[in-house]
Amino acid sequence: MARRKKGYYRARDLARQRIEKLFLLAEEEHLLHPERSDRYAALARRMGMRMRVRIPRRLKRQICKGCRCYLTPQRTRVRLRDGVLTITCTECGEQMRYPYRRPR
Ligand SMILES: [Zn+2]
Repeated sequence: MARRKKGYYRARDLARQRIEKLFLLAEEEHLLHPERSDRYAALARRMGMRMRVRIPRRLKRQICKGCRCYLTPQRTRVRLRDGVLTITCTECGEQMRYPYRRPR
């Protein structure tokens, strides 16, 4: 692997922490200020891309793939059928499908 500039790993580590923090804020704010949550989600996404940090799966699923809004139970419809979990964003109608295996 190519040698990285000094501080690169630390910077990415910080980015990961900030992403977690942004999602925490988004969760705290979404009832009173849903537009802030969308902003936090957008910031987290951009930070992830800029620093090339992967957003953890549980958090990534909280962002709509279509309109990039922060997804909350109020904004989504969830359907589970034939091992496929479908999350529908009620803001833009985008459907996100995930494989689902019943826990054993
Ligand atoms: Zn959407």
